[in-house]
Amino acid sequence: MNKIVQLPDELSNKIAAGEVVERPSSVVKELIENSIDAGSSWIKIELDEAGLRLIRVTDDGEGMTEEDTEKAFYRHATSKIKNEQQLFRVKTLGFRGEALASIASVSHLTIRTSTGEQSGTEMKIHGGEIIEKQKHTKRRGTEITVENLFYNTPARLKYLKTVHTEIGHIMDLVNRMALAHDEIRFECHHNGKRIFFSPGNKKLLQVIQQIYGKNVAQQMLSLEEESLDYTIRGYVAKPEVTRSNRSYMTLIVNGRYIKNYTINKAILEGYHTLLPIGRFPVVVLKIDMDPYLIDVNVHPAKTEVRFSKEKELFDVVKQAVYNLMHAQRLIPDVSKKEKEKSEQTALDFSYVKRNEPVLDQRNNYTPSETNNSDVNNASQLFEQSSNEVPVQQVEEPSFTDVEMPTTEERQIHETKEQVSTRLPRLYPIGQLRGTYILAQNEKGLYMVDQHAAQERIKYEFYKEKLGNPEQETQQLAVPLHFEFTNQEAITIEQHQEQLQAIGLFLEPFGNQSFLVRSYPSWFPAGEEEGILRDMVDELINEKTIDLVKIREEAAILMSCKRSIKANHYLSHQEMEYLLEELGGCNDPFTCPHGRPVIVHFSDYEIQRMFKRIM
Ligand code: ADP
Ligand code: MG
Repeated sequence: MNKIVQLPDELSNKIAAGEVVERPSSVVKELIENSIDAGSSWIKIELDEAGLRLIRVTDDGEGMTEEDTEKAFYRHATSKIKNEQQLFRVKTLGFRGEALASIASVSHLTIRTSTGEQSGTEMKIHGGEIIEKQKHTKRRGTEITVENLFYNTPARLKYLKTVHTEIGHIMDLVNRMALAHDEIRFECHHNGKRIFFSPGNKKLLQVIQQIYGKNVAQQMLSLEEESLDYTIRGYVAKPEVTRSNRSYMTLIVNGRYIKNYTINKAILEGYHTLLPIGRFPVVVLKIDMDPYLIDVNVHPAKTEVRFSKEKELFDVVKQAVYNLMHAQRLIPDVSKKEKEKSEQTALDFSYVKRNEPVLDQRNNYTPSETNNSDVNNASQLFEQSSNEVPVQQVEEPSFTDVEMPTTEERQIHETKEQVSTRLPRLYPIGQLRGTYILAQNEKGLYMVDQHAAQERIKYEFYKEKLGNPEQETQQLAVPLHFEFTNQEAITIEQHQEQLQAIGLFLEPFGNQSFLVRSYPSWFPAGEEEGILRDMVDELINEKTIDLVKIREEAAILMSCKRSIKANHYLSHQEMEYLLEELGGCNDPFTCPHGRPVIVHFSDYEIQRMFKRIM
């Protein structure tokens, strides 16, 4: 006895719907994708009860003829591919021809559509069955209304979560669509209130601001990279803007929002060690390539794809992010400098080649004027998308396209003009316990150990002077007289040459004493005798004289002894002066003994401390 039967269309559509239409957001996704494929410049999404009661997507795209309107709801009916070759070169978001059939089989659906040439069509389908068809207006575009979703699949309905969860999924989806298509104006309303809007002016950063807020938008760096097969564009957040999960990483491949482990990994590796463990960046990356290089027919929801040259793509993405982050390190994050010291030496001599403003004041647009209060609880993303202020001049996400100098070039710069590139500009706020200078700039708060700072400044000053023996000497009217122990006197005698090399002439004066008739003119006035003593002490303690080391030690000693100590009041002007001098140091981050001079609390850290951001 035979047992196999061909399932009726109605049932097979319902089965397909199980794959394609998982929840309201999947319906929204399929409808928006169809609107995008129809070449729309404006897409409006209306929702009631997170789409469970009603989803309506309206567009101004190419629309359908009366005949096509019916066909569109057949299973495997599509205008997007015609044969197998085209399947491997899909440029549209849809191609499987099953979304409309699936959605219509599990809801009450109404379509109104027109190509704008003839009169339009209105059609009602209940559970996959056409129950009404009539003429409609000629306005070009399509409006599809899906009501009572899953009314005939109670199991699926039961599986759905709260309105908040579902609206969260939909908002996430709408956000990604708007990011993927900044040339399209998106509008989304929930229970009659506008909850999202994107301008459709091809300014991706404005969409990012609408979704993630102004603070994040201001911290985004523009990324552009091209290889033989791939064009990569987008925005990548500075390392200080991190999130606890990957959901703030948006990948768009040929206009399609996708999820891909490999590219995510490439991005994270591109950040290298800049991201704290377990933290993830905010990223919107658009990758364009020949459709031939990807297989989009992997999953019914089409959020997963396969790349034929995955390794190459991985490398390109990783390198692009890495380069950008390196350029970004031009302004060192002083709090991290210790562990990245070696890296920094290389970085501090990079130069910015191009630096374009990314937002144009002329392209401001009016933000949503609606009340978003009920939406704010829906999801985190959601919260951030609401209540945004109008787009303003956003700080230039800068430092693209940096050229790394050669070692030789670097050395030249090292001796010439690298001064003041090491520290960002700091503005003193005040002093803490007469010991630390508190300073600020747009990057946050800085604490400077005034003693360590001055040690560093003096150290570099002395070191340079000591290392440069061909200098003028100052004659003393009355020679200085020094007395030493027996042993010390012998040591000095033995090392006269080295002492003279740094400008010190000690004239034996019998009985272990010496006269000094002149000293290097760089000795600060009033400090001559002390410094001289220090230097000779250095020499005596060292015995075997290593000139480089002696100069080094002498510099450290002098800088330390003659630096302002803790509990010393500084005027505002003195603080300013100290910070400025510190900025001129070759290595302003540590004192000569290796202790930190400056610590940084980023805006982000401060905001987190006060739970302004989570
Ligand atoms: P697919 O998108 O995979 O082709 P769908 O079931 O989503 O399959 O849609 C079937 C067909 O209906 C599409 O190929 C397209 O020709 C037409 N269509 C659907 N939505 C729209 C729309 N908003 N505007 C114009 N045509 C549409
Ligand atoms: Mg489709």
